Amino acid sequence: DGDAVMDVRMGALGSHGVLLLADDLTGAERVEETRRDFVANVSHELKTPVGAITLLAETMEDAADDPDAVRRFAERMQTESRRLANLVQEIIELSRVQGTSFLPDASAVDVDAVVREAVAAHRNVALGSHIEVTVGGTTGLQVYGSAARLTTALSNLIANAIMYSEPDTRISVSVRRAGGMVEMVVADEGMGISSEDLGRIFERFYRVDRARSRARGGTGLGLAIVKHIASDHGGEVTASSRLGEGSTFTLRIPEMGRTETIPASAAPRH
Ligand code: ADP
Repeated sequence: DGDAVMDVRMGALGSHGVLLLADDLTGAERVEETRRDFVANVSHELKTPVGAITLLAETMEDAADDPDAVRRFAERMQTESRRLANLVQEIIELSRVQGTSFLPDASAVDVDAVVREAVAAHRNVALGSHIEVTVGGTTGLQVYGSAARLTTALSNLIANAIMYSEPDTRISVSVRRAGGMVEMVVADEGMGISSEDLGRIFERFYRVDRARSRARGGTGLGLAIVKHIASDHGGEVTASSRLGEGSTFTLRIPEMGRTETIPASAAPRH
């Protein structure tokens, strides 16, 4: 499918620093097809909130002499506008990370700082939802790459953990080292993901329950962004889950100083 093709291309030019020349023509055609699919998806996704806002504005005009109705429509317009802004933001973020595997601000990154920042960004939402976020594991680890993008990736995983959990549950964010990699693990006690869906959630715009995701402000792009960021760092993101019991997402990035070579995609280029 489209996403896989794009990843093959990113992998071929990115993580291994080599160009695959075999099958180039079909490769180029596939990339073009992927691009077309993406544009079609984006147009479709944008039409929903834009259509809703237009309709609300029209209805509001008709209800101009009913202040309560006007207030209700205005609130709904604000919700749809925020959704639209969020979607545009994520589309920009995704095109940024999938457009190039070059990491503009690559340097030694303190994993502790990434975790601290990503968790802090969600503290208020978690508090508001009565969800306790615990942080633990190994400290003092370093990876090579973009601190900002790694924070975005971990932040997306934490946002999902909160979004798909019920109040009064817990989320744990922990760091460990395993086989030359630093693993950042986000585990929740939320609704979980079926095994059929688990294979597809990293695809762009894929949502298990479209209505539910939309109602919670989801765009279907968060995990696609995480996947790109992971592969740009020579790493990966994986998920395991049990329906109704919770999910665990693991972001694996090569540990700095442990691996022999810096991943080609993360190495500074001039
Ligand atoms: P969204 O904006 O819809 O959250 P994502 O790309 O972040 O999009 O996730 C894709 C889908 O994967 C979600 O719509 C949701 O169905 C599922 N998902 C992601 N994270 C979790 C989680 N922690 N628990 C349960 N389902 C999840």
